[in-house]
Amino acid sequence: MMHAYFSDDQLRHHGKTFIVAGEKKPIPEVPERAEILSGAVARLGLDLHAPKDAGIDPIAAIHDGRYLNFLQTIYPEWLAAGGSELVIPNIHPFDRDGPYPRHHAGRAGFHLGDTSCPVSPTTWHSAYASAQTAISATHHVRDGGAMSAYALCRPPGHHASRTIAGGFCYLNNSAIAAQELRAKYDRVAILDVDLHHGNGTQHIFYDRSDVMTLSIHADPHDFYPFFWGHGEETGEGDGIGFNHNIPLPLGSGDSVFLDALDRALAKIDDFGADAVVVALGLDASRDDPFGGLTVSPDGFAKIGEKIGTLLCPTVLVQEGGYVSNTLAENLYQFISGFSATKDRNDVTISEGPK
Ligand SMILES: [Zn+2]
Repeated sequence: MMHAYFSDDQLRHHGKTFIVAGEKKPIPEVPERAEILSGAVARLGLDLHAPKDAGIDPIAAIHDGRYLNFLQTIYPEWLAAGGSELVIPNIHPFDRDGPYPRHHAGRAGFHLGDTSCPVSPTTWHSAYASAQTAISATHHVRDGGAMSAYALCRPPGHHASRTIAGGFCYLNNSAIAAQELRAKYDRVAILDVDLHHGNGTQHIFYDRSDVMTLSIHADPHDFYPFFWGHGEETGEGDGIGFNHNIPLPLGSGDSVFLDALDRALAKIDDFGADAVVVALGLDASRDDPFGGLTVSPDGFAKIGEKIGTLLCPTVLVQEGGYVSNTLAENLYQFISGFSATKDRNDVTISEGPK
């Protein structure tokens, strides 16, 4: 039975509001998401484990020390300076190669990429626990010999870069998982099926050939994160050819998504990945409040089945997917489909050639 990981500390962060079209709106990345997803984990009968604390090192292998310090210390500083109940920036630098800002508002603008990643008093505790959940699932696969594991990460991670939070994300759980896998495996792929482009993950590995990043998402010409996720972004330096974006027209459903997935899986095969991280967003659902794509619950089962055909160890890391009447069902269908093909293949591998 596949192990799943989750810590109650991940429920503590609540960003409350963000700004959409100039208006303050309730943030959809709510603790309730994790409770709904836990319900699907229970229905699947997976063993649910609390993560072990592996310390800061695996996180610091991906994120800049100043950024980690900022996330841990900015809140009291902001409050003491008369700031509101959430740290939300009001100015951003043109680029980030100038002097590091001393003022708290300057540092907020330096490290927070948009208004959808407010820092509350509990943000660090939940983001840290979410990263530990990804790390424990990864170690179960890397060191425990399991062929797969599921990390119920919340807050999500794939919009966070080395130094910048964004899109409800603070610590890039999928990137941290991939880097931990690199300690054992030469070639690791991150396959991101979230509705939104995994811009943080792309940025972190953009000049590397040892971690291939692939993302299937709503076309950024028309959708968040707007500046990244186009097909011509293929990497730089040693990383050229190791980043693949497959943008889909808004409203695309099961068949378009599954065709894109076939192309992504062929790239992973060509790369010869030794291990895979799935950045498992469920917000491509037709019922998701973001409304970008129209994947059905049955579509998620088929996406899971196809990803389950990968013959290497696979860590599933939860990314987006917001409250709707099929959120739990979509996770249930994905993992059911994934486990059905994965278990069959793994038995074939362990029996060896006949
Ligand atoms: Zn998303």
